[in-house]
Amino acid sequence: MVKINILGVGFDKYSLAEFEARFLDRLRKKESTLVVTANPEIVMAAKEDPEYREIINNVADYVTADGIGIIKGAKMLGLKLPERVTGYDLFCWYLQIANEDHLRVYLIGAKPAVIAAVKEKIAKDYPGIDLVGAEDGYSKEALPEIASRIAQSRPDLVFAALGFPKQEKLLAILRKQNLPASMMGVGGSFDVFAG
Ligand code: UDP
Repeated sequence: MVKINILGVGFDKYSLAEFEARFLDRLRKKESTLVVTANPEIVMAAKEDPEYREIINNVADYVTADGIGIIKGAKMLGLKLPERVTGYDLFCWYLQIANEDHLRVYLIGAKPAVIAAVKEKIAKDYPGIDLVGAEDGYSKEALPEIASRIAQSRPDLVFAALGFPKQEKLLAILRKQNLPASMMGVGGSFDVFAG
């Protein structure tokens, strides 16, 4: 798949349905997968941070255009991306599958009250999910220590809501270790989900 380059970040040219088909396939095969949903702020941050750019371009398996700004930016460069594919929409989609397939899910991020509300909502609305971890995003530990705790719980899915680039830097550790899980940074999604 040829990527579309926008200011140094390579985006996959798939529609939402095409991404979902690929994500589902990899999830069911337990292939280690890192998804980055990149918005314009992430593209600008990657420009200034070589480690972050390397993660997005060479560690992540898929990069989606999170926001109309990316679609418009592509158009200005004479390129075309099919549609906006947001982290929040993908998060909700993954939760539905996890519920149906009784998957092991690990959540990390947001403030303690927010993650507590997320936990409650999952128990109520997604009873099929096996929530193997739900921790707030303000631990003082180093990322490798957090990553090792996540790996020990053998999750099928990991969602990190720590803001960028921290969330992708954490998940990149697990992706490089080939943790057999699908992983995605979801920014402010826990706050939205908690309502
Ligand atoms: N967050 C966190 N730990 C941090 C910094 C942020 O858990 O060290 C959480 C924050 O509480 C919020 C989420 O990360 O739930 C997204 O934060 P922000 O809106 O700043 O990031 P963005 O959506 O721009 O990536």
